[in-house]
Amino acid sequence: MPPQEGANNVIRRAVSEGFSAQTAFLADLVRFPSTRGNEHTVQDYMARAMRGRGLKVDVFDIDREAIARHPGGSRISSKHSTAPIVVGIHRPKAQRGRSLILQGHVDVVPPGPLDMWSTPPFEPVVQDGWMYGRGAGDMKAGVSAAVFALDALRRAGFDPASTVYLQSVVEEESTGNGALMTHLRGYRADAALIPEPGREMLTRANVGVLWFEIEVRGHPVHVAYMGSGVNAIDAVYRVIGALRKLETRWNEAARKDPSFGSSEHPLNLNIGRIEGGDWASSVPAWCRIDCRMAILPGIPASKATREIEETIMEFARGDNFLANNPPRITWNGFHAEGYRLEPGSDAETVLGRAHEAVTGKPLETSLATAYLDARVYSLYDKIPALNYGCFAENYHGFDERVNLDSLKRTTEVIALFIAEWCGLEPCS
Ligand code: ZN
Repeated sequence: MPPQEGANNVIRRAVSEGFSAQTAFLADLVRFPSTRGNEHTVQDYMARAMRGRGLKVDVFDIDREAIARHPGGSRISSKHSTAPIVVGIHRPKAQRGRSLILQGHVDVVPPGPLDMWSTPPFEPVVQDGWMYGRGAGDMKAGVSAAVFALDALRRAGFDPASTVYLQSVVEEESTGNGALMTHLRGYRADAALIPEPGREMLTRANVGVLWFEIEVRGHPVHVAYMGSGVNAIDAVYRVIGALRKLETRWNEAARKDPSFGSSEHPLNLNIGRIEGGDWASSVPAWCRIDCRMAILPGIPASKATREIEETIMEFARGDNFLANNPPRITWNGFHAEGYRLEPGSDAETVLGRAHEAVTGKPLETSLATAYLDARVYSLYDKIPALNYGCFAENYHGFDERVNLDSLKRTTEVIALFIAEWCGLEPCS
C-alpha cells in the first residue's frame, strides 16, 4: 500500500474516472417516479446494480407487525408503501477493519403541480453543473455516492477489509419504517453513514417528527341558514390556532436545548394538506388536515403525541361546537424521536480527516430540523450515525437540483472514509 497521501490520490482519481458513469446512474434513478408506494421498480434497479457489483443481495418486506411493536415504529395506513428494502452485503476475505452501514432512501416526495417545474421532474436535465429532477438531491445523489465510492475503491484495486452493508430503503419521507426495518432484520455495524443532502456538513443533532390527521365533522345546511349549521372548515381553523400556541410553547422550551438553543424556530408545525366540504353553497360537513410537528431530541415521541392530543381535546372542550363533536385524531406517519451525534467518536474523526483531505477545510457541523433516518442507527443500534452529503437545493420544492461538483467531492470523501474506517484489501 502506498503512503497515505498517495493512496488518497489514487482513490480520488478513481472517483473522477467513474464520475460520468455515476452521473448516468443518478439520471437513471431520477427517471423512476418513486413516490410513496411506487418504489418497486427503482428497488429492482438497485438490487440489479448491487448484484452486478458482486454483492450478496437481501430483498425483504417491511414487517408491519414488527414495526408496530417497536417504540420507534411509525403508524401506517393503506397509503404507505409495500415496496421492499434492498441490502447489498460485502464480506471481506479477512475481517480486519470496522464494519459499516451505508444507507440511502430512494423514495421521493410528490412533485406538486407540474406546471411549476421548468423541466419535467422525472426527466433529469444537467445544466451549468447541476442536475435537475425530483429526488436528484434528496437523496438519489447520495445513493449514487455510496455505490460509486465502493466502485472507486475497486477501480483502484481494493475492497473494504470489513463487512459493508449497502442499504437502499423506502418510506423515509413519511415514516422512517424502511430504515427501522433494516434494524429489525438484524443488520448491525460499527458505524452508519447516510449521504443525505447536507452542504458537506456533518449533522450534529436532529429533531424528531410526528405526523397526524385531524378530522372534524360539522352539520350541513344551506348557506342561507348558516347560523344553524356548523362549518367544519372554520372549526378546523380554530383547532389549528390551538396547535400554533402549542408550537410557540415548544419553541420557547427549545431555547434551553443544548443543541437547538440558539436556533430561531427549530420546531415547525406544518399543515401540509387540507380537504373538506362538498359544495360552495353548502356549509361544509367535514374537514380533514394532515399535520407535521417536530420535537426536540430526547423527548419521547409518545409523550409528545399525548401532549398534542391533550391540547386539541382541551381546546375542543371550550368550543361551543367541538365540545359535542370532538375532532378525531389519527396518527398516520412519522412517530420518530430526534437524536444527537455525540462529539468525539472515531467515526467522526475519520470522516473529518477524509473531508479535510478532499476539501482542504475542517469538517463543520450543522443541525437538522427535518426527519433523518440516522435516528434509527443512533437511537436503536447505538452507533455513530453520520449524516453527511452534498449540496442540493429545492428538495421538496420545484426545480430540485443537486450540484455535481459537490457530489463528486462527497463521493471522494465517502471513498476515503471507507478506506480508513474499514481498511482495504486487494480485490479479487
Ligand atoms: Zn432525504
